[in-house]
Amino acid sequence: MRATPDRLIDISVCTRPFRMQGPRIESEHCFGKTVVHHYGHGGSGWSLSWGSARVAMGLVLAHRPRRIAVIGAGAIGLTTARVAQRAGLRVRIYCKDRPPEVRSSAATGLWTPDSRLCASAAMPPGFESAWEAMARSSFKTYQSLLGIEGAPVEWRDGYALSDIPFEQPLPDDPDEPAYPDLTARLTDIHPRSKTLRPGEHPFRASHVRRFTQMTFNIASYQRLLMDDFEREGGEFETREFRHPREFGGLRESVIVNCTGYGARELLGDESIIPVRGQTARLIPQPEVDYMLSYRGHNLIVVPRRDGLLVATQEPHDFNNPDARIDRAVSEAAVERLAQLFA
Ligand SMILES: Cc1cc2nc3c(=O)[nH]c(=O)nc-3n(C[C@H](O)[C@H](O)[C@H](O)COP(=O)(O)OP(=O)(O)OC[C@H]3O[C@@H](n4cnc5c(N)ncnc54)[C@H](O)[C@@H]3O)c2cc1C
Repeated sequence: MRATPDRLIDISVCTRPFRMQGPRIESEHCFGKTVVHHYGHGGSGWSLSWGSARVAMGLVLAHRPRRIAVIGAGAIGLTTARVAQRAGLRVRIYCKDRPPEVRSSAATGLWTPDSRLCASAAMPPGFESAWEAMARSSFKTYQSLLGIEGAPVEWRDGYALSDIPFEQPLPDDPDEPAYPDLTARLTDIHPRSKTLRPGEHPFRASHVRRFTQMTFNIASYQRLLMDDFEREGGEFETREFRHPREFGGLRESVIVNCTGYGARELLGDESIIPVRGQTARLIPQPEVDYMLSYRGHNLIVVPRRDGLLVATQEPHDFNNPDARIDRAVSEAAVERLAQLFA
């Protein structure tokens, strides 16, 4: 990996729309419309999107609409719109921003279906099995997106490096709640990691594991979703909603609200907690075909087609709405990466 700060070509900050009790997927009648709320997927929005959209679609189809409005064109809005089209509905997406300007564009691009999705202490009854159904449904759809032009989805090998044994836990971040480990329910579809002995890998780290992970090339994946949506007659309308009463003026009678973090302001929903994260890209290196994570050193690298993505997570990012870029943080992460190859 050619890791020098002068090769940084882009840095983004995004706030995960986290809710202690997990995503909101429920329907209500307001301002003369049926509104299906579908937001709050924390750090798992891309991963869970297809399965979550199918749950939301169950609420939509109960009203037998022929056309619907979807508000939002992030990971959740685009997949909800595609699932609705596949169910035979006509769909118009209303959104303030569309890719690449949406927050979803700043995600790392990993299959992480239980990442900062809900807090263990606030998990509603039945959540685990509902989550499992969503995760399996999403996973199945993602396997159908492999091997197609633009490589929207790819499986990659990766190496986790650690200074201490993997069994030894890292100190908890006092700001963050405890999260449930739900992926334990998916062992049959999750390749196992393997501990490597010195000599079996080229890294200087004391402890190394090899793992295999599904990854998303978000730029080409978003483009695929938008192209498929328009090819099947979907329409985009650029529009910002400042109050939910504006839903009443839409021509569609069923509306799916996929505004993500935007729902906090639009609905005054303070159950949405911002969890800040920063991603940076180094100039693409197509010859690099493996991921790297350095445990306890705030470093994850994903070899995406649009660049070597360097993700960082700082202390105090939980409940932090600050969307300003901190270049020094990404530069320091690139320096840590360089040290691994020194
Ligand atoms: C640093 C970081 C890394 C991440 N990595 C991963 C990962 O590797 N894997 C994974 O699965 N997830 C990851 N996530 C989580 C994932 O990105 C989110 O869960 C997901 O982007 C949420 O998508 P969304 O469609 O709900 O929201 P958004 O992408 O924010 O989309 C919301 C849409 O609604 C529109 N909108 C909002 N308010 C209004 C309004 N008032 N009027 C009109 N339109 C409005 C916006 O314009 C936009 O089109 C990561 C998140 C972060 C921050």
